Amino acid sequence: MADYDVVIAGGGHNALACACLLIQKGLKVCVVERNESVGGGTATREVTLPGFKHDMFGSSHLWIHLNPDFKKLRPELEKHGLKYIWSEGAIQGHPISDGGDGIIIYKDIDKTCDSIAAYAAADARKYREICQEFEEIRAGVVKSMFAPPSPPSYLYQALEKSRKGLKRLRDYQLSAKRFIFENFQNPHVRACLLNWALAPQILPDQLGTAAGIYVMIPSIHNFGQAIPEGGSQMLSNTMQKYLLAKGGSVMTGATVSRFIVSDGTCLGVRLQDGREITASHGVVSALDPVQTFLKGFEDGVLPSDFIDMVKNYSFSNVTMQRVHYALHEPPKFKHGAAMDETPFQRICGSVDDIERHYSEIVRGIAPSNPALWAACWTKADKTRAPAGKHTLAMDTFVPIDLASGESWEDIAETFVREKLLGLLRKHTTNMSDDNILGHYVQTGPSMARDNLCLYRGSTNGGERTLAQMGVFRPFPNYANYRGPVKRFYMTGPSTHPGAGISAMGTIAANEIMFDLGLKRDDDDDLDL
Ligand SMILES: Cc1cc2nc3c(=O)[nH]c(=O)nc-3n(C[C@H](O)[C@H](O)[C@H](O)COP(=O)(O)OP(=O)(O)OC[C@H]3O[C@@H](n4cnc5c(N)ncnc54)[C@H](O)[C@@H]3O)c2cc1C
Repeated sequence: MADYDVVIAGGGHNALACACLLIQKGLKVCVVERNESVGGGTATREVTLPGFKHDMFGSSHLWIHLNPDFKKLRPELEKHGLKYIWSEGAIQGHPISDGGDGIIIYKDIDKTCDSIAAYAAADARKYREICQEFEEIRAGVVKSMFAPPSPPSYLYQALEKSRKGLKRLRDYQLSAKRFIFENFQNPHVRACLLNWALAPQILPDQLGTAAGIYVMIPSIHNFGQAIPEGGSQMLSNTMQKYLLAKGGSVMTGATVSRFIVSDGTCLGVRLQDGREITASHGVVSALDPVQTFLKGFEDGVLPSDFIDMVKNYSFSNVTMQRVHYALHEPPKFKHGAAMDETPFQRICGSVDDIERHYSEIVRGIAPSNPALWAACWTKADKTRAPAGKHTLAMDTFVPIDLASGESWEDIAETFVREKLLGLLRKHTTNMSDDNILGHYVQTGPSMARDNLCLYRGSTNGGERTLAQMGVFRPFPNYANYRGPVKRFYMTGPSTHPGAGISAMGTIAANEIMFDLGLKRDDDDDLDL
């Protein structure tokens, strides 16, 4: 007899979300995590000084609030201590170096448009138009994000019949930069929106990325942005508590090295120490495709054409260079009180500067004047630092491999001080060394050591190119969360809809339930 009904490799929040849904159906589930604590990309640790809680990876929780299954799960997690702190006012700030208060994205569309209108009234009108048009696609966006992707022709069939739809379809093909240039005129507004649009690690001229702007802009106003009190880790911790309370198992300090297959059916996982955990109904890999398919199966088990597809999967050459600070006081911006109230800033120069940043990444050069993301979550969550003190996280995108042959481990301290802190200092008045109590630098290599799923330090589970999104993610014919052997399932950022704190592990859970006859469609759960 098998040990469990379902065993899940990896203990990030997606694995846990998958397990939470399965356990609600009475299934016996085990989550197997390599690190000493669950959470993966939602880990929070005291890496600078005691009492200062830093989100080591993901910190801004936006996409999870679109997930219909998470909405139902959230009240259960709240009973175990999950408490979201919502940004009701200012959400993100875009300081501008040569004048004005900068652009602030508020939860409220009117206030946001006022902020944009201070630079260009016509651009504010266009921004509002994009937000208003979202009502037409809102239900479709949510459905398409949290279900297996539809065939590409569905989108064309839905849009090609009307003049407006065809125009929209045409816009979707554009690059983010081209779309922004066609629709917004002011150079500051253009830079602010382009920098924001590139957050999912796409290149300014990458075709087919404009579609994301139609979702990115309205989502922040429609669904809001939040952080868990106490750190991102609280999301995964409360999922773990929920699972344990329902009789589930969570093994930590247990590295999965192999998926056990017999007669074309996956029967369980083998740990690095040789122990085996078997499952009768399904095995889920919440690991990256390299660990899963190139290392996780005995030679000859998987078809060679499948292995070729895995080898062709691209993680890109982009990672993040990050630093965490423990501070006496939060950064004071030169742009007025509203910017100071905003929990995080996206700081960049002109569109030319942004393009230079990305061209340097492509050429393997440490960015000379990078765009910067800076978050001071303690403005909203006082529990993350000792009384009156603050945390600050900053990062930027950099190439994984440097053409110079140098390692990020060697140059990170200087890069962070000169480029990231240097840029923040230009926009603030109090970020002198006196304000800094401690700091901790993270590099691509260090992140890859902390979380084996971050292949070579890649932070988004694989490039978001047209060839790797939707029905092609992770591979054509495998976008339905099922692997190449029976009873084997996949979840995580290499599967649709990609990276982000979204709890999209619920999709794989639903697929398992469909296969087990526990669910007929989205609205029709069958209890055991
Ligand atoms: C630096 C950074 C910043 C980010 N910022 C944001 C943000 O602000 N907002 C947002 O929405 N998203 C953000 N993301 C993306 C988001 O954090 C991830 O997409 C998300 O956490 C992925 O969740 P997951 O559960 O699928 O996988 P992961 O969180 O990666 O979890 C995988 C787990 O598997 C474990 N594991 C690995 N190998 C093995 C093995 N062999 N055996 C057992 N266990 C194993 C790991 O230890 C880890 O716990 C960020 C990502 C990074 C890296």
